[in-house]
Amino acid sequence: MTINKKILEIKDLYASVQGKNILNGLNLSIKQGEIHALMGKNGSGKSTLAKVIAGHPYYEIKKGQIIMNEEDITNEEPDIRSHKGIFLGFQYPIEIPGVSNIDFLRLAYNSKQKVIQEKELDPLSFFDLINKKLDQINMNNLFLDRYVNEGFSGGEKKKNEILQMFVLNKKLSILDEIDSGLDMDALKSIANNIKSFSNNENAVLLITHYQRLIDYVMPNYVHVMDQGKIIYTGDQSTAAYIEKYGYNYIKQN
Ligand code: ADP
Ligand code: MG
Repeated sequence: MTINKKILEIKDLYASVQGKNILNGLNLSIKQGEIHALMGKNGSGKSTLAKVIAGHPYYEIKKGQIIMNEEDITNEEPDIRSHKGIFLGFQYPIEIPGVSNIDFLRLAYNSKQKVIQEKELDPLSFFDLINKKLDQINMNNLFLDRYVNEGFSGGEKKKNEILQMFVLNKKLSILDEIDSGLDMDALKSIANNIKSFSNNENAVLLITHYQRLIDYVMPNYVHVMDQGKIIYTGDQSTAAYIEKYGYNYIKQN
């Protein structure tokens, strides 16, 4: 029997931005092989949590701990966290004019290879690798030569986050509202991508408002966040209850 190791453990976390408390005693534990979904009203602190896990410098951690693979990373710099295995797909992906997508991906990929002391790839070998990944996620290679996210539609930006997730292949991938602004076909395709990415070695944290993505991806746990902490953890049926009765249903029960 294999015992799945904890990838991430957050203990009693308090964080603030510009003097305003946003995370208020949050606990969360994620093991390898698992997909977790995080739901919650606008402003409940979901994106803040994602950024605090990734080490965004705006946010001040007041109390508590973030443990990644048994190492305390509460006060680590963002690049160290990334090297230790955290990927964050943004709710609003940034555009990087002047930098082509493929150069950006190769740079990110090689910096990871360097840290894990594996071979870095030249442009041609990387082109092979990226084409395999594109096939895997059903994305066309016209994306590669365009500047990162510049002029991409909402759906294309989200797909590009998925591509980055596949190329970087980190232990913990956090996707913030990867489903917002997607039509039904794009949503199904991205849900399938997430399922095929998930394996016994990694973990995925999906932040979403909608039941639809949860229905397709079938996460192991669905957490509900309110005023900076997780107030309820259930299974997929949680999303259906929320869709039907609203978040107050969770609060009252
Ligand atoms: P969610 O993703 O659940 O909608 P957020 O984490 O984006 O919520 O925001 C939680 C609260 O923190 C909101 O009230 C938001 O206005 C505030 N907040 C988040 N980031 C900042 C920031 N950089 N400066 C000021 N307030 C912020
Ligand atoms: Mg958000």
